[in-house]
Amino acid sequence: MKTSPLKIYLIFAIALLSACKNESSTLTVDRELQDDSQVTSKHDFGADARPKNVIFVIGDGTGINQISALEFYKEGNVFYDEFPIVGLSKVSSTSLITDSAAAGTAMACGEKTFNKAIGVDAQGHDLPNLIEYMEEQGGASGLIATSSLTHATPACFYAHHSDRNDHEIIASFLPKSGVDFFAGAGLKYFNNREDKVNLIDSLASNGYTIETSGLKAYPDAEKVGFLLAEKDMPKILEGRGPFLQKATQMAIEHLSKNDNGFFLMVEGSQIDWGGHDNAFDYMISELIDLDNTLGAILAYAQQDKNTLVVVTGDHATGGLALTADKDDYNKIKPIFSSPGHNADWIPVFAFGPGAESFSGVYENNMLFHKIKALLSPEN
Ligand SMILES: [Zn+2]
Repeated sequence: MKTSPLKIYLIFAIALLSACKNESSTLTVDRELQDDSQVTSKHDFGADARPKNVIFVIGDGTGINQISALEFYKEGNVFYDEFPIVGLSKVSSTSLITDSAAAGTAMACGEKTFNKAIGVDAQGHDLPNLIEYMEEQGGASGLIATSSLTHATPACFYAHHSDRNDHEIIASFLPKSGVDFFAGAGLKYFNNREDKVNLIDSLASNGYTIETSGLKAYPDAEKVGFLLAEKDMPKILEGRGPFLQKATQMAIEHLSKNDNGFFLMVEGSQIDWGGHDNAFDYMISELIDLDNTLGAILAYAQQDKNTLVVVTGDHATGGLALTADKDDYNKIKPIFSSPGHNADWIPVFAFGPGAESFSGVYENNMLFHKIKALLSPEN
């Protein structure tokens, strides 16, 4: 009998909060080795298959060690397991170590740029992004994050500005962005601004139905936006619940009405913040939330058969290592080695038509070019 995700969170949160401070999530694993090769979804799409829809999932601050931790700390299925195609992405920006803005710009716009840059190149010029491309094709687009929607990663998919910290300037790009569905936080950057402009009115006059009290269905809305917290969404450990999964399912339902296809970006934003805090419980609870959202996305893509799912991270954070506890090799002791970002190569997971394009090793900005090529009717 599968335990409900919420129940797992609560059991897990209580156990972790009582058990660990920082690096003390030592785990004794009594594992029966199981053959899970049946779990992996089949990649039976023809080599020339092209997706109608793309769902692009970003785990902020999520490298291979974060994902590996799921194997030992998550009860039930690990949905990362189910992707038949895996590649590796090199994530340096114009600096050896990237921030989320430069990595987001590389993935959303296809060019390496400077840290803090949102949708602009190394000279500060605007770079067209995947959502603008999808809108040109007459398709639909969506954005979901557990941070403010003006935060670095989601911002790279609709805004163009040289400093990620100017949240009010970034917010001003959303009303005319063409995004058809968005969900996350950052309400204050829209309705409590220094320039006294009320961007909620501007969103409404651009065809948006805006909801700030919770996820509600608006089946007849042309464009719908959820701004559900002043700055960032609450943590899972603070009771956020399955917002990410639910918003993703609502976005798919809304966007799949467009016959020209859709592009949807879903970000697990706070995995990175757990890494920066070197707080294992925070990091892993956010990652389990993202993994469960992957389960919902895969279920849709497996049934739809016209949807490419690409899952990656923008960089790894915290220098996480899943070490043996002293010389007890049957005990895992997660240790963080830094409060900052790391230079690791980042895994890319893909499922669906065109997934094979994501195997191999490549620079992170190639993700933009691979997705655009697969969505381009002329190709
Ligand atoms: Zn970060």
